[in-house]
Amino acid sequence: MASVPPPEEGSVTVVVRVRPQNQREQEGNQHSTVRVVDDRILVFDPEEPCLPGVFMGFRGHDAPKRKGKDLKFMFDRVFSEHATQEEVFQHTTKEILDGVLNGYNCSVFAYGATGAGKTYTMLGSEKSPGIMYLTMVELYKRIEARKDEKYCEVLISYQEVYNEQIHDLLEPKGPLAIREDPEKGVVVQGLSFHQPKSARQLLEMLANGNKNRTQHPTDVNATSSRSHAVFQSKKPHIPYRDSKLTRLLKDSIGGNCRTVMIAAITPCTLAYEDTYNTLKYASRAK
Ligand code: ADP
Repeated sequence: MASVPPPEEGSVTVVVRVRPQNQREQEGNQHSTVRVVDDRILVFDPEEPCLPGVFMGFRGHDAPKRKGKDLKFMFDRVFSEHATQEEVFQHTTKEILDGVLNGYNCSVFAYGATGAGKTYTMLGSEKSPGIMYLTMVELYKRIEARKDEKYCEVLISYQEVYNEQIHDLLEPKGPLAIREDPEKGVVVQGLSFHQPKSARQLLEMLANGNKNRTQHPTDVNATSSRSHAVFQSKKPHIPYRDSKLTRLLKDSIGGNCRTVMIAAITPCTLAYEDTYNTLKYASRAK
């Protein structure tokens, strides 16, 4: 299969990853709401939602509800539920590493509803490491290969934006403020920076940082039950809007920047509204 061309300066590459149905969803015999046609096209077909009446009156929830109303979406790349972490890496972040080493700002972010596969894609597990790990291994490999020609330094910070508060995950302290610096752009005041010497050390730092996350990535059951609770209350919620996050990403998207957005979706019927909203947002992000 041909790979996605390296992103041009200022461009956004948008890919979608469909996660496999979990055991509970499989046992419930849920219809899959998405069909991957090829490596660029997927079709969203919600069929009949399980609880038609309960979805009524939601702001912004305008996913097609009737059978046969399928929608075709095209992205730079579509990863089906069979895609491996390595494949996702090969066709997303690997492409922009040259940009990083040539001085471009590059950013990669995962987007999608709770339970859709963002953490799995970015962090993964020990058995199946995510693209952060694969990218860092490759980055250090490339730095090592060119160390005689060019000196490179890796500095990292790791932060969480949760409920409009920014927290330093590597050196936890109180919430941090954002400031606009005329030269540096958007700056998080007091955010710590660290200098890992290898991919392994960097990943240890990230693993320690994860322990400080509010939404603990390994606490899968808690995460799923929380999203389920929101689902059951039907309480209106604005899913992905977060102004702090928008400000933080201001300098990371567009301009002298290469961006990859990985939209994570679940194919299960119960999440069809989230899936539709994510696909709609992702298709407009180009
Ligand atoms: P999010 O971070 O978007 O809330 P997670 O990454 O925690 O979602 O994924 C929810 C669940 O689905 C987890 O149990 C995760 O291991 C599993 N999962 C997600 N994507 C995949 C995948 N591509 N292959 C296998 N399991 C996956």
